[in-house]
Amino acid sequence: MKRREFINRSMGATMLASTAPLSKLFAHVNEIASKSVTQDANYDVIVVGVGSMGSSTCYHLAKQGHKVLGLEQFDIPHELGSYAGQSRIIRKAYFEHPDYVPLLERAYQNWKTLEDETGAELYFKTGLLYYGKSDHALIKGLWESANKYSIPINEITSKEQASHFSQFRIADDYERLIEPDAGFVTPERAVLLYTERAIQSGASIHTKEKTLEWKRNGSTITVKTDKKTYQCKKLVITAGPWAGEVVPGLSKDLKVTRQMIAWVKPKNWKRFELGNFPCWTIADHERPGIYYGFPILPTSQFGGPIGMKLAHHYHGDVTHADRVNRIPTQEDESNLIRMLNKFMPEGYESTHVMKTCLYTNTPDENFVLDFVPDQQKNVVIAAGFSGHGFKFSSVVGEIMAELAITGSTTQPIGFLNAQRFS
Ligand SMILES: Cc1cc2nc3c(=O)[nH]c(=O)nc-3n(C[C@H](O)[C@H](O)[C@H](O)COP(=O)(O)OP(=O)(O)OC[C@H]3O[C@@H](n4cnc5c(N)ncnc54)[C@H](O)[C@@H]3O)c2cc1C
Repeated sequence: MKRREFINRSMGATMLASTAPLSKLFAHVNEIASKSVTQDANYDVIVVGVGSMGSSTCYHLAKQGHKVLGLEQFDIPHELGSYAGQSRIIRKAYFEHPDYVPLLERAYQNWKTLEDETGAELYFKTGLLYYGKSDHALIKGLWESANKYSIPINEITSKEQASHFSQFRIADDYERLIEPDAGFVTPERAVLLYTERAIQSGASIHTKEKTLEWKRNGSTITVKTDKKTYQCKKLVITAGPWAGEVVPGLSKDLKVTRQMIAWVKPKNWKRFELGNFPCWTIADHERPGIYYGFPILPTSQFGGPIGMKLAHHYHGDVTHADRVNRIPTQEDESNLIRMLNKFMPEGYESTHVMKTCLYTNTPDENFVLDFVPDQQKNVVIAAGFSGHGFKFSSVVGEIMAELAITGSTTQPIGFLNAQRFS
């Protein structure tokens, strides 16, 4: 019996309705993951880290018929890496660098493909507001990308501001813009569905199995975990905040920082709910970085926590993924409350919950998508997503699969090469 037939039969080839509550999907994916564990020690490709980028990589590789093993040190999903927390903003007028826009076009297409295959809704088009002074990097950068790639951006008149976005109190000297095609994607569900689809296509996914070391000998790579030793022809490293440990040669350019997210109760709940309120970004000229947030999402559909989510996109304290202080401080909370009181008069009544998340920052805050130096194109890495990577995970997995199998990619990733810091 062919491998894929065996796997499909042994799992009953069931796909859980993808609108199922997250807890059900979680139980289902972990059940089929445990059934996908085989005694095999040899694989075409091993993927270290089945999170945002790794789950998508396993999916793309397995779909092409390659024999794949995905190794994840925790459960799928979990809250200790970079993707936890219900929602991630997706947008195209990319202020960080216009060269990301072609990758975003492909990322949007790939999200749609996953939605079509699974029947799930993963991308929610809420529109994204941009508020900031015209000389701020957010505003200058988004116009650069929007003009270069003809991305629709609308200026909001004072009348529209008062009628549609009256939740905000914005100074007259701030630009008021909206990207109508932007919104958010749902990270936990996406990671679960990519994992589910990878397993359905024949991948083995081992959870609670930590990769301890790897070594290349000619065209064979040996991967040692805390459970077993494996061999593969190609290795893909998608280890998020642990990437610097898995590839020590790159660790100096992958700084992990502690970031906080809050879910708050606004004074007027209804006005901030999904359907009545968009995603938003505000570049407060008195503070570094950018504040951003989401509408209140119904927990029956999106899982917890309850409330309006917001965060501050800037570099938090440098930390280590295994030793980060996950307890919120008074300062973490007051930073976000101060911002709400300033820009959303009805936005804050009380704090519901605060959670810690991790960024992995490169010196220029652009990703690393490349072969690991000195490994003869046998080892590929996707890392350093610097707090803005999730929206790309649908295309990054495809790129990782291409690089691992063919040694090249059709996507324009030259600006994300690993050598640029040396
Ligand atoms: C607060 C916050 C807000 C964000 N907001 C946005 C946003 O709005 N839009 C956006 O696009 N992006 C956003 N991001 C960024 C985005 O979430 C990250 O860039 C993305 O999740 C990084 O994916 P990753 O695969 O590199 O890491 P992860 O998703 O963390 O995956 C890495 C995986 O590798 C596993 N692993 C590591 N080492 C090993 C090992 N040795 N053995 C086995 N498994 C291992 C880990 O357990 C983990 O599951 C945000 C991030 C944070 C923290």
